[in-house]
Amino acid sequence: MPTSTFQIHTSVLFDPKKRVFLKNISLEIDPLSGEIVDTTTRTDQEDASLIITKSSRDIDLRGKIVLPGLVDAHTHIFIHDYNERNGTQQMRDQSIIERTIRASNHARAALLAGYTTYRDLGTEALGNADANLRDCINRGLTPGPRLFVATDALASSGSYELRVENRLGNDGSNRVGLSVPRAADQADGIWGVRAGVRRRISEGADVIKFYADYRRRTMRWPSDVRGPGGKVLHPPKQRNPAVPLYTQEEMKAIVEEAKLLAEAPVAAHTGETRTAIWASQAGVTTVEHVFEDSYGVEEEMFRVLKENKTIWVPTLATAEELPAEMFEACKRRVRRAYERGVKIAAGGDTGTFNHGLNVKEIEIMVECGMKIEDALEAATILGWEACGGDMSGFRFGWFEKGNRADVIALDSDPREDKKALRKVGFVMKDGKVWKRDGVAVDMIVVPQWPGESDVSGGETSSSEEWSDLEVVEPKQAAMVVPVPVCKPGKPSGSS
Ligand SMILES: [Zn+2]
Repeated sequence: MPTSTFQIHTSVLFDPKKRVFLKNISLEIDPLSGEIVDTTTRTDQEDASLIITKSSRDIDLRGKIVLPGLVDAHTHIFIHDYNERNGTQQMRDQSIIERTIRASNHARAALLAGYTTYRDLGTEALGNADANLRDCINRGLTPGPRLFVATDALASSGSYELRVENRLGNDGSNRVGLSVPRAADQADGIWGVRAGVRRRISEGADVIKFYADYRRRTMRWPSDVRGPGGKVLHPPKQRNPAVPLYTQEEMKAIVEEAKLLAEAPVAAHTGETRTAIWASQAGVTTVEHVFEDSYGVEEEMFRVLKENKTIWVPTLATAEELPAEMFEACKRRVRRAYERGVKIAAGGDTGTFNHGLNVKEIEIMVECGMKIEDALEAATILGWEACGGDMSGFRFGWFEKGNRADVIALDSDPREDKKALRKVGFVMKDGKVWKRDGVAVDMIVVPQWPGESDVSGGETSSSEEWSDLEVVEPKQAAMVVPVPVCKPGKPSGSS
């Protein structure tokens, strides 16, 4: 029986487990299972005599810098740059069709930027549409990273929602004021939050996200609007600080329900160091953001995160949109955490700036003083851990037999070139090539006439006997993918 596997030959390959670059590694890939089936090291002699003929299916990535497919540990696939439309406008005003088409563009842009996995933390007012998008990608209908989704985030009553001052009479039948979509699944109390987790799981969530704190007193000092009479003249110094949404008991109930009963990881939105401590003590997998230290408990937070092996996803790329002094404080906090050995994963809150520019997070981590090898670990294997590790059902983020065949190659060396991660020339996910020599391939599923070409029958389909699906390998076709651009501008916070 002819073998289905092929080889990828590399000269420089990064190993996130050892945090070193290895020489002359060959990976054996099985495109049918999408797995790495073997890794071998070539001797210099073997390397010198290695010739790849045109007819060979083997791929030569020698001369490139090869990494595992990158993992963005904090994304919002349905959100685009807040400088283009702020969060409220996107949630309130855009149609589900617009948001879905944008999301499929985002997924392609991310994949072509080398991101083969997304931990997507909430649709922002589109319910469980992220689970549907994930399934479309998994079914091969549209290209994109492997998505692990949260569906709706959990938040306590009235805590994470679209704020409008005109809600007159919105209590049932006699509607007068503005009606807005829901931005979170509201859940309160020990059994209430457990029921919330159960709802999320039933709707297809891979990961449970909850808001441990939020700037929830917006309506006490509503945001300023343009024009006369639009500005609160004498607001207090702390106009709307991040305050806890849940008690420690509620957080523990969320974690127990999710991790123990449903085997799903838990991500906690934590604006403050104090809430990050509570969430870590409750046993969450990750704490997100941590932009402020109003109670002066930063050192304690580092200690607690380390003790509980909680991963911190500092979302520096979105923090860049905060006032400059706050952003600098965030960077210093990451540096201190890094020096103390806190586990840090790379997740940019991507979406608040455009998908495809994801590596910004890794670049800022390096600016904070992280070694490139450690920043790459944060963007690969620690991303896998943030997705729940083996709870995710897969292994990815490093090269090993049985892992997903997610392989990317850079044209430039990140140890020398600060912008190297922007130069992704090759992308493979699950053993399938999506970018080669810097050019996107197979981005559109092209229908084929019956009887023409490479129909592979049940070969690549599931092994289930009852399946009558015929799997057709798409022909190669390139398409123009909207390319996000980086521009300066001002913020509207994190989500
Ligand atoms: Zn977010």
